[in-house]
Amino acid sequence: MLYQRSSALFDEAQRYIPGGVNSPVRAFKSVGGVPVFMKSAKGAYLTDADDRTYVDYINSWGPAIVGHTHPVVLEAIQKQAENGFSFGTPTELETEIAKLITDVVPNIDKIRMVSSGTEACMSAIRLARGYTGRDKFIKFEGCYHGHSDSFLIQAGSGAATFGDPNSPGVTKGTAKDTLLARYNDAEQVEEIFRNNPGEIAAVIVEPIAGNMGCVLPENNFHQKLRQICDANGALLIFDEVMTGFRLGMGGAQEALQIDPDIVCFGKVIGGGMPVGGFAARNEIMDHLSPLGRVYQAGTLSGNPLAMRAGLTTLQLIKDDADFFNRINQTAKTLDYEIGKILNEKGIVHKINRYGSMMSIFFHTNKVSNFNESADANHALFNTFFHHMLAEGIYLAPSGFETWFISDAIKDAEIDKTLEAVRKFNFA
Ligand SMILES: *Cc1c(COP(=O)(O)O)cnc(C)c1O
Repeated sequence: MLYQRSSALFDEAQRYIPGGVNSPVRAFKSVGGVPVFMKSAKGAYLTDADDRTYVDYINSWGPAIVGHTHPVVLEAIQKQAENGFSFGTPTELETEIAKLITDVVPNIDKIRMVSSGTEACMSAIRLARGYTGRDKFIKFEGCYHGHSDSFLIQAGSGAATFGDPNSPGVTKGTAKDTLLARYNDAEQVEEIFRNNPGEIAAVIVEPIAGNMGCVLPENNFHQKLRQICDANGALLIFDEVMTGFRLGMGGAQEALQIDPDIVCFGKVIGGGMPVGGFAARNEIMDHLSPLGRVYQAGTLSGNPLAMRAGLTTLQLIKDDADFFNRINQTAKTLDYEIGKILNEKGIVHKINRYGSMMSIFFHTNKVSNFNESADANHALFNTFFHHMLAEGIYLAPSGFETWFISDAIKDAEIDKTLEAVRKFNFA
């Protein structure tokens, strides 16, 4: 059996940890089977508890963009650790990373560091509410902004655009202030603003969506959102937890040439450590405590080990003029070659890609919102996933996720991946 030790570890984990995992998607519920327990990672590869190795296309859901355990990052963390893990006081290091990020990302003067993307998005919404004095905000179906209460909302029944809680424990009172719209449907956003005059603090969006699979904006979607927000005195929040420092140093806002008001970060900015951040121009950020009245805090925020891992990763990317070209080219090659192989096999599919983010949908039509993503053949994706896993290729364990290409994936890994796709027998 391929995953013998993982199976035993999973059995034991389930006795002590709900579902055996500390974050639900890891449990393989979507694709079925036993989650693979990893014990180490280096460069492009993961090694599991049974000593099998995999080319990794998750890369810790994005952070390991320079490859796992990069020697420069590793050494920086080791050195930092010798000076202490956490002080609960300000450090020079925090200013260094804040300076780097505010230098290279457009539209932001100041950044506040937190410990996860969830915290970043939750705090961005609080800040937008505090700044505008309004309660409601708009999010899009299929976009994920972490698991804080006001984001765990699903489409309400009928024509209502206000949401229902999609998790027990989220109150109806919370849900009523979250308004849901379809991705790529700016007209619907306009309509929601018309129906809630003077009440909407912000629109939050994944500029390139990655949490319903990779879905790209169409028909000047973000330009329209920008205009609608301006016309209604609302803030535009770009959740760049996934896209920040993946689509370029300036993230999606730079790639798409849109000026959001608040930007959320996570994933890559921690280089594999638990980090998030949210940023805006001074006029907005100065509403945060201790300067302003919008409260936000964190015992481990700006943690020196995490800051060092993040800063070193960002510097590696910044000092390498060809970095984004390289990972984008890797993704482009995979996109093109995998598409060719699947076409030869007569497997109907659509590959969505932007830069180094991509997803394969087994779908006859284009996928540009959540309903269309949900409409894809997820059973076939699951078969594909398990085939690739057995061939030593580690994809995200759900058809609603994105592949995260790292710089450690080179020709040998691409070849191995294409070889595995060639062996895929779907009939
Ligand atoms: C991962 C992700 C989050 C949540 O980040 P966590 O660190 O898991 O809390 C928020 N927004 C987007 C777009 C993400 O991809």
